[in-house]
Amino acid sequence: MRHLIYVLLLLAGFIGCKSSGKTLNENEAKIESQIEKLVKQMTLEEKVGMLHGNSKFTSAGVERLGIPEWHLSDGPHGVREEIKRDSWDAAGWTNDSCTYFPTGTALAATWNPDLALKSGKALGEEARWRGKDILLGPGINIMRTPLNGRNFEYMGEDPYLVSQMCVPLIQGMQSEDVAACIKHYLANNQETNRGTVDVLMSNRALHEIYLPGFKAAIQQGNVYTLMGAYNKFRGEWCCENKFLMTDILRKELGFKGVSMSDWAAVHTTVESANAGLDLEMGTDSAYNRYYFADKLIEAVKNGKVKESVINEKVSNILRVMIQTKVIGENRKKGAFNTPEHSEAAYNVAKESVVLLKNDRQILPIQPEKIKTIAVIGDNATRKHAAGGNSSGLKARYEITPLAGLQSRLDKTVKINVAQGYEKQSQIFWDKGLVLKEDKAIQKKLATEAVEVAKKSDVVLIFAGINHDYDTESADKPDMELPYGQEQMILDVAKANPNTIVVITGGSPVNLSRISEQVPALVWEWYNGSEGGNALADVLTGKVNPSGKLPFTIPVSLNDSPAHAMGNYPGKNLTVSYEEDILVGYRWYDTKKIAPLYAFGHGLSYTSFEYSGLKAEVIPSDNDQLVQISFNLKNAGNNDGAEIAQVYFSDLKSSVQRPEQELKAFKKVFLKAGESQQVSLQVKATDLAFFSEQTNKWVLEPGDFEVLINSASNNNRLKQTINIK
Ligand code: BGC
Repeated sequence: MRHLIYVLLLLAGFIGCKSSGKTLNENEAKIESQIEKLVKQMTLEEKVGMLHGNSKFTSAGVERLGIPEWHLSDGPHGVREEIKRDSWDAAGWTNDSCTYFPTGTALAATWNPDLALKSGKALGEEARWRGKDILLGPGINIMRTPLNGRNFEYMGEDPYLVSQMCVPLIQGMQSEDVAACIKHYLANNQETNRGTVDVLMSNRALHEIYLPGFKAAIQQGNVYTLMGAYNKFRGEWCCENKFLMTDILRKELGFKGVSMSDWAAVHTTVESANAGLDLEMGTDSAYNRYYFADKLIEAVKNGKVKESVINEKVSNILRVMIQTKVIGENRKKGAFNTPEHSEAAYNVAKESVVLLKNDRQILPIQPEKIKTIAVIGDNATRKHAAGGNSSGLKARYEITPLAGLQSRLDKTVKINVAQGYEKQSQIFWDKGLVLKEDKAIQKKLATEAVEVAKKSDVVLIFAGINHDYDTESADKPDMELPYGQEQMILDVAKANPNTIVVITGGSPVNLSRISEQVPALVWEWYNGSEGGNALADVLTGKVNPSGKLPFTIPVSLNDSPAHAMGNYPGKNLTVSYEEDILVGYRWYDTKKIAPLYAFGHGLSYTSFEYSGLKAEVIPSDNDQLVQISFNLKNAGNNDGAEIAQVYFSDLKSSVQRPEQELKAFKKVFLKAGESQQVSLQVKATDLAFFSEQTNKWVLEPGDFEVLINSASNNNRLKQTINIK
């Protein structure tokens, strides 16, 4: 009878069923009852079998109940080459060369959430086609230091930009019946000592800077899985940290999915299990020896971990399996290396390129007006897909800058090639970066480059770094350009004033001297399979650059917050985030330190005019809304796109606040001469700060300045508003 009433209620759509305090809708209630039924039929051994790796990238299912093995893959910017089950060796497949998508910083530099959605969908399709259930990405750690080796995988220094870009990326991936996995939770902001370092930060920095990306991914993106980081947080490893894994993740953020460990990031059985970790990954063969295997069965048997805790973990896994149709019908099958995937990769690449400087309007190159171009530098011909470690890919193809130019330039333009500098380094997993500096070769290559530059009308130098520097497992030793590049560039620029420098990299490098001496500077990322084509289109003016920096490029490393405070990489394996909430531009603006190139900076081949700002505060349910509108005009002769950025400054506060904070942005495409009324809304509650005293968000009534900027340091319009 009770069963019948429940079914009737279910059909009527008003479900009384609750999970963690939240009323479930009809579909959720159905899933929960399916999960409950499955768990009831499982033995303890079968359940624990699902909670640890049974190969490098799978965890076990329960065949007799129709639960398949779970297939995971790196991520984040493509589906990693197939490896053997029990070793890191390549499996030797011939059909696993994927589309290589621009890495995290590149995607963030587009400031275009639509492109994130499309890349996500394409990534999801490729993962499905390869039989994967989870793609391990996106990586959304905040860029705290320019030296972090993995900055290139992440999305820059601002929590709002990270949130806006990761949500559609996740939604796109998961729309293809693949789970995304946000990583690395939490505060894995450096690779130096990542397995041992203890990170200390205030609750305010946690809530205002380091959590918002994860919060958005969970609450707006409905991300299905999350990866716990290697490091410690306030004295406990992230994967056994109850505060992070349960109090924040489950209770505060409402995460219902699966928390897995980073590869071999688990150190205990009982503590990790009771802290809230679901799945242990990254173990070696003899998989039953690990923390969430036989030892976990034992811990249940001797009462140290309740079986209900195991049931919850298994339920979390089953829930994601049902949501992604690992269990169920009509699962999407995916697609691999389609023209649409190349197009998605190209579109991100073309919108990510950042024009840092363009004196004399030397760019775009006008091929019809020149006879010879010098192409100099190792990055003109280097392919980057395979580098960076776990995010490295076997790409089906990768267009280099030189190949892109060759395909775009008319045959009448002669390309004079010189190597310019040599990659005199090698990165090792255990030893880190090993330099093989040879000054004599550097000098010889620089001299050749100068000669080539002298006999060319225009010079393009493809400089920067590579995945010996931007890599998992090691931080950059400093922010300098390696291999004697700086001197070579200065020599070439002296020999030919029409020298344009293109920097490849995923984290800031020192460009101070070069920036003074060359008329044009372009930032290029690890830009995927289509990177060279997109870059050539930008350099030759077919595409108008529209990317903006997702991080600050400081004048020198010591200007940047963690380094100025002397708290990188930490002392005695503890790093204390004393700069607190003043990360990235929040620091430079508040401390009045001029950056070389500011967060949000990026030029165009056209110019934009801002006018007519109107900002008003209107009441809305339980909140107030700041309604913002202004006019944006493309005042130049080329079609183009501008990223209008809305920052807020709290004019009077009881606590220190950053000078300004990004709260909204819009990328607007305008034809030459065209204007558009841009409208944006910001919730007043988004202007709150996190109080250390009350451990709550606090919105203090009073005046705020609304700043409409074209870069964090370039204000175009402003108005004061009053929040009640
Ligand atoms: C990385 C993760 C990656 C995992 C599996 C770890 O070393 O930190 O990002 O997903 O390996 O390759």
